[in-house]
Amino acid sequence: MKIETLIIGAGAAGMMCAAHAGPDVLVVDHAKAPGEKIRISGGGRCNFTNMHTSPQNFISGNPHFCKSALKRYTQWDFISLVDDYGIPWHEKTLGQLFCDVSAKDIIAMLRAEMDKAKAQLWLQTSVESISHDGERFAVSVSKEGRTTQLDVKNLVVACGGKSIPKMGATGIGYQIATQFGLPVITPHPGLVPLTFSDEKFKPLAGVAAPVRVTANETSFDEALLFTHRGLSGPAVLQASSYWHEGEGITVNLDPSGTLMAALQTHRQTDGRKALTTVLGQHIPARLVEHLREELTLDGNIADQSDAALSALCEKLSSWELRPAGSEGYRTAEVTLGGVDTDALSSKTMEAKSMPGLYFIGECVDVTGWLGGYNFQWAWSSGWAAGQAIAER
Ligand SMILES: Cc1cc2nc3c(=O)[nH]c(=O)nc-3n(C[C@H](O)[C@H](O)[C@H](O)COP(=O)(O)OP(=O)(O)OC[C@H]3O[C@@H](n4cnc5c(N)ncnc54)[C@H](O)[C@@H]3O)c2cc1C
Repeated sequence: MKIETLIIGAGAAGMMCAAHAGPDVLVVDHAKAPGEKIRISGGGRCNFTNMHTSPQNFISGNPHFCKSALKRYTQWDFISLVDDYGIPWHEKTLGQLFCDVSAKDIIAMLRAEMDKAKAQLWLQTSVESISHDGERFAVSVSKEGRTTQLDVKNLVVACGGKSIPKMGATGIGYQIATQFGLPVITPHPGLVPLTFSDEKFKPLAGVAAPVRVTANETSFDEALLFTHRGLSGPAVLQASSYWHEGEGITVNLDPSGTLMAALQTHRQTDGRKALTTVLGQHIPARLVEHLREELTLDGNIADQSDAALSALCEKLSSWELRPAGSEGYRTAEVTLGGVDTDALSSKTMEAKSMPGLYFIGECVDVTGWLGGYNFQWAWSSGWAAGQAIAER
């Protein structure tokens, strides 16, 4: 069967690409339904973009690579598409846009866009083998036990990363890149809870606090959540993408820097109160109790000199922790690393060494922060490849 363009992966990037890649497009996916990650994203409401998207919100071996696609297909372009379909949305926080009703609205919109472009979709279809004769790709796919040979001009790899294998993530994109001689930056889990071997935070499970978490000199001011196995919450998930095994992280429990002044005021007004009681008005009481021994939080607030309070605030704003590991691909929202951007055109996502071969979305070494940035990368890179193919 001869086709112009084959897209492997009916996720966010693959469906977007299919809608823009011109005529004669086939999308194959081994899952039962398209856009499964869209469906579960944002607690079922899909954080589909971020109003403040800029290249600074992405991690990549080449921080400039994402600029072209993000500039040519912006968050505003996607928002206007969502508006064209009358999908209601709202800003939750920090520019993060969510569907009012359901993530399924975004999937239906992308399916409608694919239908408009007359792109075909084969589900429960797996890729058996791929070869290239110098001009075209020969791709063997299998559906319900039947093998079909596809003769393809453009091959787009949109099969995502390795995160959440139980949802169908395979990492096949890295194998295809390697097969055609493209370098791959070692993938690892990102936006993932961090774990501690000694279960020291188990008694604090469920406690949350606004903090600043720093990993590798990059800081995030958001909430931290203690879990049975370690730390989670947006601040920790964000920092996890900058953290490497064996390294420490710093947690600032006084991100606004107002604790010292507040404690001095308490000393004036509530001098007889225990230091732990007063601290418990600014930091969750269970956490204060946990830190009691480590920071010798004894006596009343009136007993504390300025020097003692200042030393305490210093410790609370630079709590050094050494995670043992992360929860891994089982729960990671994204995969860092991937197809080396040096091997791709930033304008078209096409492999420099193999005309007709494209990589888009999460399988490329471009990873967004938490907050809608990863979908925006999927839309922008999918659109960029689609445009280039339509013009080819
Ligand atoms: C729980 C969770 C919540 C998330 N929430 C958000 C959010 O709210 N906002 C945000 O911006 N990002 C979010 N993300 C990240 C976002 O989902 C991904 O970055 C995005 O889906 C990547 O798009 P993609 O098209 O590259 O890959 P995917 O959407 O993962 O699509 C890849 C497709 O390829 C298919 N595939 C894989 N291997 C094969 C194979 N061997 N053969 C055939 N098909 C194959 C898969 O079945 C899948 O349909 C979330 C991720 C998770 C796990």
